[in-house]
Amino acid sequence: MSMFKSRVALHWRILAGLVLGVVAGLLINTLWTSTTWDTLGVHDPKVFLGGGVAAEQSTSPGGTNEYADFTARSARFVRNANEFVGDLFMQGLKFIAVPIVLFSLAAGVASLNDTAKLGRIGGKTIVTYLITTAVAISIGLLAANVVKPGKYVPVETRDALEAQYEASATEKVTGANEQRARSTWDIALDIFPSNPFKSMSEGKTLQVVVVGLLVGMALTLMPTKESDPLVQWFQGMTNVVIKIVEVILIFAPIAVFALIVKVVADLGLEVLGSLVVYCLTVVGGLAVMMFLVYPMVVRVMTPIGYRRFFKAISPAQLLAFSSASSGATMPVTMECVEKRLGVSEDVTSFVIPVGATINMDGTALYQGVAAVFIAQMFNMDLTLAQQLTIVLTATLASIGTAAVPGVGIVMLVIVLESVKIPVEGIAVILGVDRLLDMCRTSCNVTGDCMVASIVGSSENELMSEAEVAAARAKPLDEHPPL
Ligand code: ASP
Repeated sequence: MSMFKSRVALHWRILAGLVLGVVAGLLINTLWTSTTWDTLGVHDPKVFLGGGVAAEQSTSPGGTNEYADFTARSARFVRNANEFVGDLFMQGLKFIAVPIVLFSLAAGVASLNDTAKLGRIGGKTIVTYLITTAVAISIGLLAANVVKPGKYVPVETRDALEAQYEASATEKVTGANEQRARSTWDIALDIFPSNPFKSMSEGKTLQVVVVGLLVGMALTLMPTKESDPLVQWFQGMTNVVIKIVEVILIFAPIAVFALIVKVVADLGLEVLGSLVVYCLTVVGGLAVMMFLVYPMVVRVMTPIGYRRFFKAISPAQLLAFSSASSGATMPVTMECVEKRLGVSEDVTSFVIPVGATINMDGTALYQGVAAVFIAQMFNMDLTLAQQLTIVLTATLASIGTAAVPGVGIVMLVIVLESVKIPVEGIAVILGVDRLLDMCRTSCNVTGDCMVASIVGSSENELMSEAEVAAARAKPLDEHPPL
C-alpha cells in the first residue's frame, strides 16, 4: 500500500479533485454552449455527445468546420471517459455496501451479547433521526417564508420553465403515484425480508440490517463453542471488507473529479439564473443545518469539537456531494465514523446503514423550501396548519426516499399534494435539481454522522482523539494514511 502513500490528507485530496473537476466541467460546459455547436449544426449537445450516430451526422449545413468538429469530439470523449471512471467507482462502492452491513452487524451484535443494549441503541437512533428531520424541515420552512424565493420568479419565466420540463415532471408524478400506491402497512412489511438472499442481491439495506441483526442475535443464543468460530469469521470478513473500502478510498479524489466533471458538463446553467434565490434559500438552509445545528449538537452532547468532527467526516461529505447518493456513500461514511471519528463498530454498523436509508434531513429541508417556493409562485398563501402538514408529510416522505440521486423530488410530489399545491410546479425546479440533490445528500450524510456520534458517546462507545490517532498509527493495521 506504501506506493499510494501521500503526505496530503485524504479530505484535501478529495477537495482538490472536486475543485479541479468543477473547472474542467465548466470548460466542457462552455464548449457545449459555445458557437462550436452552432457551427456543427447541433442544437442539443447532450444528445450529440451521447450518440455516436448522431455525432457522425451532425455537420453544419455549410460543411464541417474541422476545428470545431475536433473540439466537440474531444469534449465528448473527455465527458464520457469521466462518466466511465465515476460509474466504475460507484460500482465499487455498491459492491461493498451489502457485505459491510451484513458482516459488521452480525459480528457486532454477536460480540455485544446484550439485547437490551441493542434495543436502547435502536430507540435512541430512531428518535434522534425523527427529531433532526423535523428540525430540518422547520428550518427550510422558516427560510422560505422569510426569503420568499417564489416572488422572484416572473410569471413568464415560470410558464417557460414549466413548458420546457413538462415531460420529465410528468415522469416524476408517475413515480410518486407508484410510491403512494403502497400502503403504510406494505412499507412496514417491506422492512422484513422473506428471502435473505434476495434482499442481499437487490441491495435492500433495511432488510439486510434485519438479516444482520437476526444472525447476530442467533449467534448469541448458541453455545460459545459453536458460535465463536462463526463470530470470528464474521469479524474477519468485516476486516476484509474494510480493507477493500480503504483501497477504494485511495481512488476517491480521482473519482470525485470524474463525477463532478460529468455533472458540471451536463448542467444547464441558463436555468440557474432565474432560480438563483430559490437555490440560495435551499443551500443557505442546508448550510445552517450542516455547519451550525449539527456541530452544535455534537459539541453539546459529545466531547467532539467542530474541527475534529468535520476533519473526520469530510471525505464522506465530499463524496456524497459528488455522487448525490447517500446509499453509495454509506461504506465510506461507516469508515469515516468508525476509523476517523472513533465511534465503536457496534454503534456504527447499526446507526449508519439505518440512517442512510431513513434519515434524510437535507431532503426534508429541501422539500420544505420547494413546497413553499412553488406555493408562492402560484400565489398561494399557506396557513400554519398547512405548514404543519408539510412538516409531517415531509418527515414521512424523507423516510421513504431511496438513498439514490433524484428521488427527493419524486417524494416532493406527495408533499405538494398533501396541501394541494399544484404539482406542475415541479417542472420549474427540475432544471436545478441535480445541483440541489448534491447539496442535500451531503447534509443527509452529515446528519447520519452526527447521530452516530451522539449515540456512540451516550453509550460510552466513542474513542478520544488521541485514541483514534493511536489506533490509526498501529503497524498491525497498516492503514493507508486516509
Ligand atoms: N439523493 C439523496 C440521497 O441519496 C436523496 C434525494 O434527496 O434525492 O440522500
